[in-house]
Amino acid sequence: MADISIDGLTKKFDDVTAVDDIDLEIGDEEFLVLVGPSGCGKSTTLRMIAGLESITSGELRIGGRRVNDLPPKERSIAMVFQNYALYPHMTGAENMKFGMKSVSDYTDDEIDERVEEAAEILDIPELLDRRPRELSGGERQRVAIGRALVREPEVFLLDEPLSNLDAKLRVQMRAELLQLHQELDATTLYVTHDQTEAMTLGDRVAVLNDGHIEQVDPPQVLYDYPETRFVAEFIGSPAMNVLPVDLKYDSDGVRAVHGAFDLSLPDGERFTDRPPAAAFGVRPEDVSLAANAPDDAQTFEAEVSVTEPLGESLLIHCYVGSDELHVKAEARSAINPGDTLELAVDEQRLHVFDDAGRAIY
Ligand code: ATP
Repeated sequence: MADISIDGLTKKFDDVTAVDDIDLEIGDEEFLVLVGPSGCGKSTTLRMIAGLESITSGELRIGGRRVNDLPPKERSIAMVFQNYALYPHMTGAENMKFGMKSVSDYTDDEIDERVEEAAEILDIPELLDRRPRELSGGERQRVAIGRALVREPEVFLLDEPLSNLDAKLRVQMRAELLQLHQELDATTLYVTHDQTEAMTLGDRVAVLNDGHIEQVDPPQVLYDYPETRFVAEFIGSPAMNVLPVDLKYDSDGVRAVHGAFDLSLPDGERFTDRPPAAAFGVRPEDVSLAANAPDDAQTFEAEVSVTEPLGESLLIHCYVGSDELHVKAEARSAINPGDTLELAVDEQRLHVFDDAGRAIY
């Protein structure tokens, strides 16, 4: 068992609190992604788990064992870094087995065998004799992953391992990492700032913001039910539209009133605190052309400013009053800048956030 249990984990660098009282349980064999913008504390969290950074306060357990004060090599972890951290003067094989002696009781022959096995799994036997400068970015990445595999760790820690690869290779390596995880079943903690990577890789995704966790959930739950405005705007591309509205309470229920629309919100009883104003959120694909919506859909007008063909869809930038709104429409829709559109929203897929950024609807 190699579950990771994090309780009140905190890291302070002088007056900077990089990680602020994080609680997180990562199940045995789970693939959990830590995602968030630059500087939110992802790498620091990972480095504390790896034992590369001291813990200011909190408890860290791996497989039930408190590891706060254990050196990295006694934690049964292997880490893959963003820059791969390969030794330039060593071949692929030498890089993969470097330091193995100190973390295991394997003989030289056993270590060689493990390097060959890892190279087989990653389909890189021909790279074992080459030095890093003779390898492409993707090949270096495989060697770096190979070095982690050789250690047969119970926990894999990966820090932005794909960020130095081009877009096509990133997609390919993403699939390979998933396949590897299915084969190895090691507990995996993966750090990225890329929400697409987070969504495609994670069994669950933890969204980090400014040193604290905003939400931890399976990808689709994060997408459909963001608990905070931060998560709503961070997850999803193009991002969720968020517009300011006044909330009006009357005998018929609750209405979200904007200069350019007035929408009634079903299930208005959810607004227990009855705030007067809020941020109203709707994803670009949950707004449609009124002509394609059911007859009783609620509609409003918008002015088209720009259209972007995305291939499989058309992204329309438009204005409702003075606020920008993005709408995902069918590819090849005959819509042009300057057009006035009649738009409809899917009422079941609206979001409302209070002043503190908490989802209240
Ligand atoms: P990125 O995606 O840019 O790597 P991150 O989310 O991984 O960002 P961290 O590297 O964990 O963020 O940094 C979190 C905060 O802690 C930042 O404000 C950073 O400046 C600060 N920080 C990190 N390491 C140190 C250090 N050694 N000394 C002082 N401050 C640090």
